[in-house]
Amino acid sequence: MSERSSDFDVIVLGAGVVGINTAYWNLRNGKSVCVIDRQPEAGLETSFANGGQVSVCHAEPWANPSAPLKVLKWLMRSDAPLLFRPRFDIHQWLWLAKFMVDCLPKRADRHTTEIVKLATESRSLIQRIRAEEGFHYDERTKGILHFYRDPREFEAAIPVAELMRRYGCNREVIDADRVVEIEPAFADKRDEIAGATYTAEDESGDALKFTQNLARVCENMGGVFHYSHQVTALAADRGMRKVNSVEVCGPGGYRTLRARDMIVSLGSWSAPFLRPYGVRLNIYPAKGYSATIPTNGSNLAPVTSLTDDEYKLVYSNLGDRLRVAGTAELSGYSRSLNRTRCQAIIDNVKKLFPRAGNFDAATFWTGLRPATPSNIPYVGRTRYRNLWLNTGHGTLGWTMGAGSGFRIADMIAAKEGPVIA
Ligand SMILES: Cc1cc2nc3c(=O)[nH]c(=O)nc-3n(C[C@H](O)[C@H](O)[C@H](O)COP(=O)(O)OP(=O)(O)OC[C@H]3O[C@@H](n4cnc5c(N)ncnc54)[C@H](O)[C@@H]3O)c2cc1C
Repeated sequence: MSERSSDFDVIVLGAGVVGINTAYWNLRNGKSVCVIDRQPEAGLETSFANGGQVSVCHAEPWANPSAPLKVLKWLMRSDAPLLFRPRFDIHQWLWLAKFMVDCLPKRADRHTTEIVKLATESRSLIQRIRAEEGFHYDERTKGILHFYRDPREFEAAIPVAELMRRYGCNREVIDADRVVEIEPAFADKRDEIAGATYTAEDESGDALKFTQNLARVCENMGGVFHYSHQVTALAADRGMRKVNSVEVCGPGGYRTLRARDMIVSLGSWSAPFLRPYGVRLNIYPAKGYSATIPTNGSNLAPVTSLTDDEYKLVYSNLGDRLRVAGTAELSGYSRSLNRTRCQAIIDNVKKLFPRAGNFDAATFWTGLRPATPSNIPYVGRTRYRNLWLNTGHGTLGWTMGAGSGFRIADMIAAKEGPVIA
């Protein structure tokens, strides 16, 4: 079945946190918008159970000058926070090669600056959406506290915090007493803490609730949603300069949809989807884990969003749940759960906050971060003049999604944007 030509101004492929923000800002610009996703609702893939942090303070990408040595050390450990499982996959190796190049100090500095800028804009836009649309998503505005047990790691964090302040992120260096003042759940662990950095302006919240609430707002604004529809193909014109339509397959069979502009926000699947059309994106899935622990009314769970530097875990208190997330495995597209990794998260939380909640009722999840080597997303135009990208947000899609959605909508409204792939 085929619908009429230019059914919409804009079609957004993908209804994760990035696609929904993209749809929202286009609707606000007065565009007619259609969103397509293979899942029955918005946010059911990588945006489902992430760490919850809106963290400008984590703008420094994984690819930084200290990474190569750390990654080499971690290669020997199966419980390493960043795990590389080599595969016969050229895309994995190309990603890794670019990652190494991006560890060069000048490149890492440039990428940090860009990410701080986008993440800061994005944090303000999340606040604006919250205020103007009036919905809640278990948000907390108590800042993010990044704590260190190892005095050497804490010492090393001080110049990084200084650098971040120069870039405009107010990452303050604090001692253990101040840590307990900010987060009383640390009272029994004060002696284990070497120090911390604290970014009071950062936030946390449930990215899934935000995405689904915003999707409802979009529907109320006239957005059309085709859920449970797989995007199967694009049809370009003969000169390969314009995409004429997108083919989708849903419960009623195949259909063709047309729009003046199309935006790809398919997360980790953006790269394989676009490859046959000559659009090459260096996005590779970085599998992460999360555990969600019911707090059962416990007032001994932390309420400030935390980052445990040693175990590379982040904590967000989502009302009646404590979300703890971390680890990154570069091992392809499998989302399988490794029970040892799940247990390792629970053991770490139990050691730190033994009465935080009901650990026996914890639920586990994995998601595939759409990682670029630099952690900078693709936001701009492809070689096809009406095919746009808003994808590749890696570790910070919840943080940067509102900002990049706003930017791409602006580019489409202005009918101009950089050709980036
Ligand atoms: C463990 C973990 C912890 C994290 N913690 C944080 C955090 O604390 N803060 C933060 O900012 N970020 C965090 N992230 C990163 C963040 O979750 C991601 O960057 C973000 O969810 C990516 O959103 P997206 O919309 O690009 O991708 P997705 O949410 O994956 O959305 C892509 C959508 O495209 C759809 N799709 C794909 N292919 C097709 C197709 N062919 N047809 C139809 N539909 C298709 C999928 O169904 C999906 O809904 C974390 C990630 C993980 C895994």
